[in-house]
Amino acid sequence: MHLSSSRTAALPPAPHFSAARPSRALQLLNRPISPFGAALLAALWIAGIGNLALWRAMADLPEVANARGLAFGIGFGVAIAAIHVALFSLLAWRWTLKPVITLFLLAAAGGAYFMLSYGVVIDRSMMVNVLLTDGREARELLSLRMLGALLALGVLPAALLWRARIAWTTPLRQLRQNAIVFAASCAVLASAGGLFFPDLSATMRNHTQLRYLINPLNSFYALAIVGRQPVQRSGVAVLPLGEDAHLPALAAGAKPPLMVMVVGETARADHIGLNGYARDTTPRLASEGVASLRNVWSCGTNTAASVPCMFSNLGREAFENRPANTEGLADVLQRAGYAVLWLDNQAGGCKGVCDRVPKVDYRALQAAAPELCQGDECFDEVMLRGLDERIARLPAERRARGVVVFMHQMGSHGPAYYLRSPARFKRFTPECTTNALQQCAREQVVNAYDNTMAYTDHFLASTIDWLKTREAQWAPALVYVSDHGESLGENNLYLHGLPYRFAPDVQKHVPWISWFSPQFERQSGVSTACLKAKADERLSHDDYFHSALGLLNVQTRVYEAARDIGASCRAAT
Ligand SMILES: [Zn+2]
Repeated sequence: MHLSSSRTAALPPAPHFSAARPSRALQLLNRPISPFGAALLAALWIAGIGNLALWRAMADLPEVANARGLAFGIGFGVAIAAIHVALFSLLAWRWTLKPVITLFLLAAAGGAYFMLSYGVVIDRSMMVNVLLTDGREARELLSLRMLGALLALGVLPAALLWRARIAWTTPLRQLRQNAIVFAASCAVLASAGGLFFPDLSATMRNHTQLRYLINPLNSFYALAIVGRQPVQRSGVAVLPLGEDAHLPALAAGAKPPLMVMVVGETARADHIGLNGYARDTTPRLASEGVASLRNVWSCGTNTAASVPCMFSNLGREAFENRPANTEGLADVLQRAGYAVLWLDNQAGGCKGVCDRVPKVDYRALQAAAPELCQGDECFDEVMLRGLDERIARLPAERRARGVVVFMHQMGSHGPAYYLRSPARFKRFTPECTTNALQQCAREQVVNAYDNTMAYTDHFLASTIDWLKTREAQWAPALVYVSDHGESLGENNLYLHGLPYRFAPDVQKHVPWISWFSPQFERQSGVSTACLKAKADERLSHDDYFHSALGLLNVQTRVYEAARDIGASCRAAT
C-alpha cells in the first residue's frame, strides 16, 4: 500500500482519460466493510427488492392508501430489514456470514420471481408441491425471464457480497459486536412493532395471506412446517386402512364391474360446457348422457395436497390434521378383491396413492404409443393404448370380481397449456404459446386452456366408447373428478396452489362427471338420472372415497354412507 502510493507520487500526473487509476466507485467497492455493513446492505436489499410481491399486495389494500398507511408500510419494511439483520448477526462469523446471506438472497430471488409472476404465495402446501415436483414439471416453469430474475435479484447481489472484503476482528470482539447488533436490531424491531401495532394487527388479521408473502422467511417457515407434518411420499411407512374390506358374491345375472376412475388435472368446473360454460368445451360428453355434478369443491389447491386427500377416507379437515400417513382408496379396493391398475400420464406420479397397486408410469405408456407423444410427454389418449392387454395381465381371480382402472391425466396442467392438446383439437385460437402466461393476452391464455378442456372431453368420451364395447362381459362405468382448479389471470393470479382459505373459488371448484352402463346402474342401484338430480348439491372431494366404495359395493367399517353421493339413490330404489 505504502509502496504503491509513493510510486504514484513519483510518476507524472496521469492523463484524464487513463484507466490506470481505479475509479472512485471501484475504490469504494474495494474498501473492506464491516460484517454489520454487509448484513445491513443484504437486509435492505431483501426487505426492499426481495419483497416487491408483498409491497405490491400492500399497495392494493384500500386501508393503506393514505399517509398513515405509507408510514406503516415503511415501518413494516424497517421491521423486515431488522429481523434479517438480527438473524445475520447471530451468524456473523468468518465462515458463515457470506454463505448464509447468499442462501437468503437466492431464496428471496426465487420466491420473489414466483410470487410476482404467478400471484402465488409460499406456504406449507406450496412447499410440499415444490418438494414433490419432478424434473419435467420443473423444467416447464423455467424460462429466460426466470433466469434473468434469479440473476438480477439473487446472483448479482451475492456476487458483489463475495467480491467484498469483510473486515473481521478478533473472535471476542466479534462476539461483542454481534451481540450489540443483535440487541440493536431487536430494539428497532420492537419500536417499529410498537409504533404500528394497531395497523399491523388489523392488516394481518384482515389479510392473513400477507404473511405468506414475507420473503424469504415464508419459504424457510414452510420448510420447517413440512418437516413436522407427514408428507405422502413413496417409500414411507403407511398405516393399513379397511382391513375388513370385502365384496359380497356377485348376484345371479350380474357381471363384474369394469370401472375407470379418471383423476383429472387442473380442470375448472366453470369451463365445462355441460356445466353452462359459454363455450361448448364438452360436445362429446354431452351426447353420452353423462351426469355432471356442478357444485363440487376440491380438498386442496395443488396435486400433492388434493390427490392424497381425495383418496383418503378422512375428508379435508381430518386429513390436514392426520397424525400419520394411511392407505387410501386404491388399497381398500385391492384389499376387497378387485383387480386394480393405475395408469399415470404425469411424470409427477400419483403422490403415494398408487404405491401398493400395479401401475404403469408415463415412460411405459410412451413406449406403447410413441406417436401420441412429443418429447417425454404424451397426450392422455395414450392411456387407452394396449389397455386390454394390461388388464389381461392382472390376476384372473381378481378380474373375475371386477376391475378398477385409475387414469391419472395430464389434463390441463399449466403453465404450458398449449402443449396439452393436439393440433386438431385447437378450436379456440389464438393460443398463448409461452409458459410466461403473464406475457400473453388473457384471451389467449383462456383459449389455450379451453383447448385442453376440449381435449379432455375427447379423451373421456373415447374412454366411454371403449367401455361400451366391453358391455357383453362387464358392467362398465366411468367417474371423472379433477384434483383442483386453476386461476387464468383473474386479478393477476395464474396457476393454482394458493393456501386453501384464500384461494379463489376457481382454484377449488372442480368437475365431477359420471357415466354408467345400464348394467352398472342396475347392479349399483345408482342411476344417472338420480345423480343428475343432485347436479347443484354442494359436494366435495370428501365424498370421493365413500362414493367409490358405495358404487363398487365394498363392505368395510371405514365406509360412511353420509359421504356416499349414491347412498340416497340406492335407498330410493
Ligand atoms: Zn394437480
